[in-house]
Amino acid sequence: MTGLIDAFGREITYLRVSVTDKCNLRCIYCMPEEGVPPKSHSDILRIEEFARIARIASQLGITHVRLTGGEPLVRKGILTLVHLLSEIPGIYDISMTTNGMLLAGFASHLRKSGLNRVNVSLDTLKPERFKEITRCGDLDQVLDGLKAAEDVGLSPVRINTVVLNGVNRDEVKDLAMLTLDHPWAVRFIEFMPFWDNGWRFGDSYVTPISEIREEIVLLGAYPVESDEKCSEGKKGTESGPAGYMKLPGARGSIGFISMKDHICSGCNRLRLTADGFLLPCLLSDISVDLRTPLREGAADDVIEELIRKAASLKPESGYAAKAMASSAGNNLSLSKIGG
Ligand code: SAM
Ligand code: SF4
Repeated sequence: MTGLIDAFGREITYLRVSVTDKCNLRCIYCMPEEGVPPKSHSDILRIEEFARIARIASQLGITHVRLTGGEPLVRKGILTLVHLLSEIPGIYDISMTTNGMLLAGFASHLRKSGLNRVNVSLDTLKPERFKEITRCGDLDQVLDGLKAAEDVGLSPVRINTVVLNGVNRDEVKDLAMLTLDHPWAVRFIEFMPFWDNGWRFGDSYVTPISEIREEIVLLGAYPVESDEKCSEGKKGTESGPAGYMKLPGARGSIGFISMKDHICSGCNRLRLTADGFLLPCLLSDISVDLRTPLREGAADDVIEELIRKAASLKPESGYAAKAMASSAGNNLSLSKIGG
């Protein structure tokens, strides 16, 4: 059986799964204060349905599954899902993106269930500011979660930091310095102004990633291939959008992520929404419904064809398409798409 190769020759090996659209935080750049109207419970895929799609996708060459959301750790049955994924022979990398609030309690269970590593979102090291950005979070809980993740070997731990002018722009250096003592990859992310986040203060909040990179270079950082351990021994499955640097003597590395970089040429991913739609591209409004056929009793080969179809619908460059038609395209917040 041939793997998933799209119309532009890209091999699709990575599936990002949004396991819920619910979240226990309300980050200012992601969700409105009142939250987003939750999807009906019956619309959200069951744990076994996620696992079935992943199993069929693995037969097509998907080797890496990332669980995200919303907040994946508020999804009931998340440990069962991790376990089911870990039993799929072709999937050898299972990771999760989490806000870290519940991570301390979950870390060892996640590890035992088969999770390989975590990305933890952390935008500030100041407790009061953390509360302001997340509207209800507790920084200490996240720091405990990071420690627990490191202790149980959910590594390499990556930290995702969205940089916002006038909010946490002044903490870039402090966050980068975390890599001196910890073997973490701190990744700075340029704010993406999705319309649906209810936070429409405009471009003045965007800090270009080039500006962050220049600041890090001034600290003496030098380029490295990747956050090494991530690609080592894992056949480089995550062909991610981050370039990496290291501070002299640092244990960890620093990454830079911007939607505006030319990242589409290496894109190897499909996204599955919590309600069972496959999205070929983060930035396009195309989706392929898997839930309806799943629930109508479709055989594996029907689901397989739909996964192939989603791969075949990947645009050459979602960013270019969006730039050409700025009012079109997918403008759901990342909490719905599965960031
Ligand atoms: N709740 C989990 C978390 O926060 O890690 C997973 C879902 S969240 C949508 C995934 C990532 O998307 C987080 O690292 C978050 O910082 C990032 N994100 C959300 N909205 C964003 C935006 N408008 N621009 C850039 N990154 C964003
Ligand atoms: Fe929730 Fe993550 Fe969005 Fe923050 S970024 S509101 S933690 S989904």
